[in-house]
Amino acid sequence: MPHFRTLDALDDVAGKVALVRVDFNVPMNDGAVTDLTRIRASAGTILELADAGAKVLLLAHFGRPKGERHSTLSTSLIQGAVQAVLGREVMFISEVEGPVVAQAIGILRPGDVGLLENTRFWPGEEANDPAFARGIAANGDLYVNDAFSASHRAHASTEGLTHLLPAFAGRAMQAELEALDKALGNPEQPVAAVVGGAKVSTKLGVLEHLVSKVQHLIIGGGMANTFLAARGIDVGKSLCEHALADQAEAIMDAADAAGCTVHLPYDVVVAQEFAANPPSVRICNVHEVAADEMILDIGPQAVEALADVLKTCRTLVWNGPLGAFETPPFDEATVALAKIAAALTHEGSLVSVAGGGDTVAALNHAGVAQEFTYVSTAGGAFLEWMEGRELPGVTALTRAALAQGS
Ligand code: ADP
Ligand code: MG
Repeated sequence: MPHFRTLDALDDVAGKVALVRVDFNVPMNDGAVTDLTRIRASAGTILELADAGAKVLLLAHFGRPKGERHSTLSTSLIQGAVQAVLGREVMFISEVEGPVVAQAIGILRPGDVGLLENTRFWPGEEANDPAFARGIAANGDLYVNDAFSASHRAHASTEGLTHLLPAFAGRAMQAELEALDKALGNPEQPVAAVVGGAKVSTKLGVLEHLVSKVQHLIIGGGMANTFLAARGIDVGKSLCEHALADQAEAIMDAADAAGCTVHLPYDVVVAQEFAANPPSVRICNVHEVAADEMILDIGPQAVEALADVLKTCRTLVWNGPLGAFETPPFDEATVALAKIAAALTHEGSLVSVAGGGDTVAALNHAGVAQEFTYVSTAGGAFLEWMEGRELPGVTALTRAALAQGS
């Protein structure tokens, strides 16, 4: 387990100013926040600190303002949603450092919550400018990072501050790091990884890292087509990156050398056109795909074989749908395998951790996201973690914990 300090390590915070980095980069439509997931994720951390008597100042980025003020990207636009989720008033503060913040702190009572302006309105944020970070830190007594999904960036509010104040992982960050550790850091073996999605090229780093970490590498989605083609199979007009054949071969060789079994489908769902329930849809062996057909999902026999693999495993990490799940019936394999993973998790024989934007949508579509051990909504940070890369914000928290001797 990476070593970091949680809120359990906090002494008396009554009256102290806690600077809490959250990920409130929420989707908006017509001025309304359309998905509160990210705000809900950090509510526990915020309320725990507030209820302990801290003055809680929230640091967040919103969109890509590139170092300039944009009224359409002000965090004031999400103030209402934050208040609704927390069930209490939140003061909007139009700066992140300086006298305006100091004055607001003077007005806030212990247990009150303030929302600072979009950190990315200042170029020092993305540049991780130490002077900018010092300006923010000057108004705080402690720093809490609760934004795993922003911690793959070394920015002032995700990394710089960690070095300037006593630093702690918030509850959402803690849950994410603990789940990821159970999945790949220190998992119970055997471990299976499902890697699907559209393209091998976006996930080469993931595949290369996983072959040395897992016993079973299950490849589905459009990426499977590239691997099948590399094996000399004619995939018709499927989505396929023929130029990546050598890389696909190299991954299979590396897997062999590491004792990792690569599972490619032996039956697939094909159609002549990519549309909902097309008349041409059929199931066939991978060797029987016609020149005018495309593979849009893996087949039922493949799913059955993969279910047997999962039954022998203790840990599953999943990124990427097995087929074009947005369009029926090409969601069937993803839904079926997700249900099997959920059932095994429910029985207690499997720890199941999943992540990725479309993967989360697919698991919600299958109705089993709640039954997985953990589902990460972190997107880019989750993929970087699956590549085995260090996340600067997380590394800084770990270093801070060591330096602070706990
Ligand atoms: P994630 O966001 O979970 O990391 P990706 O973005 O890599 O996942 O991939 C998801 C996309 O892959 C989905 O839009 C899905 O329709 C597409 N996809 C999966 N299988 C196929 C296939 N056989 N042909 C074309 N697209 C596919
Ligand atoms: Mg995606």
